Amino acid sequence: MDKGVKIRVEHVSKVFTIKGGLDIHALEDINLDIYENEFLAIVGPSGCGKSTLLFIIAGTIEPTEGSIYYNGKKIIGPEPNRGVVFQEDAVFPWMTVRQNVKYGPKQLKLPADKVSEIADKYLKIVGLDKYGKLWPKQLSGGMRKRVDLARAMANEPDVLLMDEPFGALDVITKQNLQVEISELFGKVKKTIFFVTHDLEEAIFLADRVIVSTERPGKIKKTVEIEFERPRSPHIKASIEFQKLREDLNANLGTSRELIDEGDKTIL
Ligand code: ADP
Ligand code: MG
Repeated sequence: MDKGVKIRVEHVSKVFTIKGGLDIHALEDINLDIYENEFLAIVGPSGCGKSTLLFIIAGTIEPTEGSIYYNGKKIIGPEPNRGVVFQEDAVFPWMTVRQNVKYGPKQLKLPADKVSEIADKYLKIVGLDKYGKLWPKQLSGGMRKRVDLARAMANEPDVLLMDEPFGALDVITKQNLQVEISELFGKVKKTIFFVTHDLEEAIFLADRVIVSTERPGKIKKTVEIEFERPRSPHIKASIEFQKLREDLNANLGTSRELIDEGDKTIL
């Protein structure tokens, strides 16, 4: 295993066999290294296997062929070193914000003072240190998402697997959270695998963007994103950014292209 490779995906294919014997080829021969402290985004058409790949890396779906490694060790199931954040948050409505953040470390049976320390740390990181006593129903969608992030980070994973985490939020909240996650990525050492269908989000956040083909998903293109960090949302208006977007868009194909052509005329 090369130094600096956090996750290695080696010849991974996935076929789902559904009732009646129908086979769905979700992924085909995926080979991918995710480097330590890298922010890697994957974009691709709906149904191309992005979530399947994320679940395989999480250890909750077994590949039909191939293997995945975490720090050189074969992944055979989920472990706290790989945390997952979904579009639908995992916040428990019957717990306060702080209790939610404490949940993971408590499950890991850490001592009470350590659990409190972790809750303080991550509530502060997501800007909710003053809101620990609130109940989820008292929060906006963006605040709930912050709780969700703090909750995932409280298990202190070194890899965060995020599946369209901002997909259900309004545009303004989403943009604010993109800036926050970008800043957070600069502060905490993490390796991030981020699934999105939003090209701007991928380019703004990632060190590297991979584009998947339609199902069965294969890696079609990899683009390095070299904007310096910390990144300001202003980079989105730059020619460099728009060029990257057009390049990635051309590789996505299908209806997505039409939607983006529409966007461009507004810009
Ligand atoms: P994406 O996240 O890129 O939209 P998914 O990974 O969710 O795509 O799904 C890839 C393909 O695999 C889709 O055709 C989907 O219907 C199929 N699929 C995903 N999970 C299952 C499952 N548990 N059983 C059968 N088919 C599945
Ligand atoms: Mg998905």
